[in-house]
Amino acid sequence: MFIYSPVHTFTFGNLPPISIKRDDLIDPYLSGNKWRKLKYILEHAKQLKKSHLVTFGGAYSNHLLATAAAAARFGFTATAFVRGEDIDNEVLFLCRLFGMELRFVDRSSYSDKPFLFEHHFRNHAGAYFIDEGGASEEAVKGCSEILAGMATYDHIFCAAGTGTTAAGILRYLNAENLDSKLHVVAALKGGSFLRNEIEKYTCDLSRLHVHTDYHFGGYAKSTRELTDFIKDFVRHTGIVIEPVYTAKMLYALIDLGQKGYFKEDDRILAIHTGGLIGLMGTKGRFS
Ligand SMILES: *Cc1c(COP(=O)(O)O)cnc(C)c1O
Repeated sequence: MFIYSPVHTFTFGNLPPISIKRDDLIDPYLSGNKWRKLKYILEHAKQLKKSHLVTFGGAYSNHLLATAAAAARFGFTATAFVRGEDIDNEVLFLCRLFGMELRFVDRSSYSDKPFLFEHHFRNHAGAYFIDEGGASEEAVKGCSEILAGMATYDHIFCAAGTGTTAAGILRYLNAENLDSKLHVVAALKGGSFLRNEIEKYTCDLSRLHVHTDYHFGGYAKSTRELTDFIKDFVRHTGIVIEPVYTAKMLYALIDLGQKGYFKEDDRILAIHTGGLIGLMGTKGRFS
């Protein structure tokens, strides 16, 4: 199955026009990199004649929602182990609507995912384990297709949680021997682990630049500066972004641009990895 998304252009401040790969437009629920990551995982599950997807995530996980939507669409049933107390929110509401069963587990049980799977699904031959965020070789393969068929760019920006998406993009740049720099913006504090994660999937890191100073306090954290940036960005470009990943990535891109990092004729691409349902859960921060 070919996954299509358009490339748009925006201008911001006094920076040259910037291209943005709109993977957020692939689908509202099976959105962005999460569908890219699931594509070959589901193919693998089908090959093994598995019928029930079992996965893991936090209460605002875009991966849970994508898995729930994909399960419903492609004829699987699904269970998710959700970290923390039994709650309801926009993301979990949609997961349930797609028919996903949710099991809430405390943080210490959550930390041993293979045990949870083994313990609860030992006697279920159709069950298929999908790691948190979909991190896997199949996911890297799916993400290596993001840039296929596109023009070439001097600088490519993407946000990172696990680094799986970045690993896929870098593998593609390496395989095609392209003269591009991949800028990976860590959404978590202490993002220097990303280099090692990415190296597990593709060994040449010469095109890789990891930016670890744009986490705004850490994973799922944000500041007034970041929410003000989001308001400004959405208002001036018409492109909606969210605070956990895409806003940090675009803030980094624009900040580097304003500091004179790019040459005038540099071709710059940002990858919009989606995640916009999760934005609804952050609306309180914008008032
Ligand atoms: C999950 C997610 C990411 C991070 O992807 P990784 O492959 O885990 O690095 C980036 N952006 C959005 C919107 C996401 O939902």
